[in-house]
Amino acid sequence: MKVYKFGGTSVGTPDRMKHVAKLITADNEKKIIVLSAISGTTNTLVEIGDLFRLGNIDGALARLEELRATYDPFIQSLLTEASNKKIAFKIVNQYFDEMHRLIHQPFYNQILKIIVVNGELISTHLFQTYLNEKHPGHSVLIPAAEFMYLNESEEPNMALISAKLESLLNQNTNYELFVTQGFICRNCSGGIDNLNRGGSDYSATIMGAALNVKEIQIWTDIDGMHNNDPRIVDNTKPISNLSFEEAGELAYFGAKILHPTCIIPAQQFDIPVRIKNTMKPFAYGTLITSNQNPETVKAIAAKDGITAIKIKSSRMILAYGFLRKVFEVFEQYQTPIDMITTSEIAVSITIDDPKFLEQIIQDLQKYGKVEVDVNQTIICIVGDMVAEQKGISSEIFKALEEIPIRMISYGGSRNNISLLVKNNLKEKTLKSLNSHLFNL
Ligand code: ADP
Ligand code: ASP
Ligand code: MG
Repeated sequence: MKVYKFGGTSVGTPDRMKHVAKLITADNEKKIIVLSAISGTTNTLVEIGDLFRLGNIDGALARLEELRATYDPFIQSLLTEASNKKIAFKIVNQYFDEMHRLIHQPFYNQILKIIVVNGELISTHLFQTYLNEKHPGHSVLIPAAEFMYLNESEEPNMALISAKLESLLNQNTNYELFVTQGFICRNCSGGIDNLNRGGSDYSATIMGAALNVKEIQIWTDIDGMHNNDPRIVDNTKPISNLSFEEAGELAYFGAKILHPTCIIPAQQFDIPVRIKNTMKPFAYGTLITSNQNPETVKAIAAKDGITAIKIKSSRMILAYGFLRKVFEVFEQYQTPIDMITTSEIAVSITIDDPKFLEQIIQDLQKYGKVEVDVNQTIICIVGDMVAEQKGISSEIFKALEEIPIRMISYGGSRNNISLLVKNNLKEKTLKSLNSHLFNL
């Protein structure tokens, strides 16, 4: 058994869906096929939810009908048989009619969650209808809401997911392909929830880990993890091999190709993850395994929306217990820390979730003078043994000659050097590091 995940652009047109069907039926291996929503749909559903939340019911309904209309030509060109088109229109209309009904109800937050998962519900039903037309009896749709459970800490409940998923597969042993939704899950109270934007990657690795499969494949619109952000830097290149640690750091620190935490389940269960390009299936892509490949710097990524907090106090001098008190404040507000640097009289910390910023500042003021800088970006340089490679640090410092750096974290792990810059310096920093580290 393998898990194949296809992102929004990979199923974004009828021709692409047909191409995906060819890819997954090229051999007879059993597979779980995890699909995202058709590209653009989730963004539109979020927009519709926002209009609804703000009380603009007419605007929300108009946008909903515009989205519904985009599915007409899609169905017409995806399916050939009139009976299958009828099935597809019926399903799509059921989902849109239900959203229409919800938008007429008084608003409450949970409705947003129920609306936003419709993209995946629709894409998987359309795809399954197409598979039924082309390869009848080959595939079955298994709803993610029947097995993808989170626990009280909003982490996947692996034991429950394994048990439920295995039982669903055992009820359908005569099928080779099991089509399911990415992104969709249930929270610990049983309510419909999601794994955050880009969460279909996470769905795939959770399922792979729950079933201990041979390999998890993430099929997307680019030929693997590149050595820098291709949306910002020219001439980036795919990286053939990454360790779980390296891929995990890149994903967490902003490489959008992977959901921030999707490497964790694969790493825990030591399951290889392969990133492949749906449009270029013969390209090698990126293979992520537990193997360390001694090389110098492999890639650079950037994470926006960071807040830096500095606590300055002469009481730190020769004192012990100071850092513990500072960390306890972040623990109390369940706010993870990304970077930390210290000197004898100050400690600087970064967070990416400012939900409790006001309370955190207030509490920290007990221990010293607090300064806050918002709109910062972490630039993360990833590779094996980065900190020990001779010459790397001097290249990094040369690249940063003209760029004011707010913080540097070096040597915390053997895979990572992190820098903090103002967000408006991100592009310049990425480009400068790229030319110094990769175009020597
Ligand atoms: P999908 O819809 O298949 O999940 P995403 O849009 O989430 O695809 O991720 C693929 C995109 O990630 C690429 O098109 C690329 O623009 C972007 N990206 C950002 N950083 C990287 C990187 N380091 N390597 C490859 N792609 C990256
Ligand atoms: N459709 C969801 C999103 O756009 C999940 C995903 O594509 O991974 O965020
Ligand atoms: Mg994605």
